[in-house]
Amino acid sequence: MRDWLSHRVRASPNATALILASTGESWTFAELDSMVEETAGRLAALGVESGDHLGVVTETRVASVRLLHAAMRLGVTLVPMGDSLTAGELRSQAETADVTAVVCGSATEGRAVEAAGDAPVVSVDPPATDEATALEDASPESVEPASRELDDPQLLLFTSGTTGDPKAVTLTIRNLLSSAVASAFRLGFDPADRWLVALSLHHMGGIAPVLRMPLYGMTVVLRPEFRAGPTADDIERHEVTAVSLVPTMLRRMLEKRGTLSESLRVVLLGGAPASSELIARCRNYSVPVYPTYGMTETASQIATARPKEAFRNVGTVGRPLYWTDLTVVGESGTPVERGETGELVVSGPTVTPGYYGDSEATAEAFCEYGLKTGDAGYLDAEGRLYVLNRVDDRIITGGENVEPGEVVDVLRSHPEVRDAAVVGVPDPEWGERVGALVVPGSEEVTRDGVEEYARERLAGFKLPRIVAFADELPRTVSGTVKRDAVRERLEAVAE
Ligand code: ATP
Ligand code: MG
Repeated sequence: MRDWLSHRVRASPNATALILASTGESWTFAELDSMVEETAGRLAALGVESGDHLGVVTETRVASVRLLHAAMRLGVTLVPMGDSLTAGELRSQAETADVTAVVCGSATEGRAVEAAGDAPVVSVDPPATDEATALEDASPESVEPASRELDDPQLLLFTSGTTGDPKAVTLTIRNLLSSAVASAFRLGFDPADRWLVALSLHHMGGIAPVLRMPLYGMTVVLRPEFRAGPTADDIERHEVTAVSLVPTMLRRMLEKRGTLSESLRVVLLGGAPASSELIARCRNYSVPVYPTYGMTETASQIATARPKEAFRNVGTVGRPLYWTDLTVVGESGTPVERGETGELVVSGPTVTPGYYGDSEATAEAFCEYGLKTGDAGYLDAEGRLYVLNRVDDRIITGGENVEPGEVVDVLRSHPEVRDAAVVGVPDPEWGERVGALVVPGSEEVTRDGVEEYARERLAGFKLPRIVAFADELPRTVSGTVKRDAVRERLEAVAE
């Protein structure tokens, strides 16, 4: 099998592949194909070859789309990394994924160079330093599309990791293809669709439509940064039919514009629970909302509810997609009765073979029924899935996941901080906000000081937004932090 764009360009060369929302500039599959051909040729000239691990740390832009398809064409495993991560966070991801080269843009060059270590750095913009090579300066070699097998890895995509260490999920061509097919069975994607991409390309929700575009023959409308009003306007102007959003985004768009364009037939909602208030709003405004459930390890959603179902059975994420076997497992590790809550365990061809380079984490993640999701939920009598919360205490803010332990470690490393606890504080806008209760080690320490210290060490979405001080953390007799008591303290401060 060759890369999906190679097949599509034969089938419908003149159909529109890509539109840049801001300018309206567009490219047919034939035009995208020749840009990808050129990018692949330049990467090859720079020594990138099949089997390499290509770290990509660029903002969402046309160059990123070219890179993703060029990597598929070359048989290179892509390692998308967040463009808002710090140099240290990028470095740790680059090491975990054994990247052999890193591609950056001007906004990320400095951090990419620090993160890459000995690996070469290539920039899609004119480089600011000698440490990066300009992609445009390489003269393209001619390349044959690599021949791939279903079990070849295509993506290493990061999660935040339960212990705070990021884990790289291996996704094979089989995983991505099965997920794309199962999703199309449920939602009927075809060449008439125009999918607006407003989510980051280093998460499955953002990268999936870009990878699938040639498979479905649909058009991707690229919206490099999310802003509620302008994104809603783009959907209208470009007659967008499909979009993936996290609940916070949809909520803000409805607040700004009342309703959304009638061109939309599918509004996929995932990454975090959707509030019943948000679903009710969608019903009132006739927004075709499809609540979904999935994770990086399952290459996108594995359950999707149709709008009618979502309106009638509030809180459901629908029935599992074709191929996904879902088992709800109790504390004892055996399946529970229908209707009872337990940990969701999934198996099927979309499920990752494991975490890259971490056989221990992989072994721990699987049980005899499949992959343990770490999420608690239940199936109703009709087989609809309800996801309640995570089995652990992870914070979800604006659709991004934050490991409290990681923030705690940073706060504790502050020389004037004795101890800290971090929990999610419920928030109508963000779902949750990161809250920190800090035990000062001296009188010198201030809120501003702590916040500045954290800002230098953590990506923006991980920063504590609600900070309070205490003489001691509330603890149980066995010494563990009472998370509910911490949350109450912080809720009082937030009001
Ligand atoms: P890590 O595995 O390191 O903890 P993560 O699970 O936070 O990372 P993702 O793979 O992006 O990273 O997110 C998948 C998770 O998102 C699911 O396991 C689930 O907890 C949450 N999630 C996704 N959809 C929903 C939903 N509809 N309702 C509730 N939670 C959801
Ligand atoms: Mg997870």
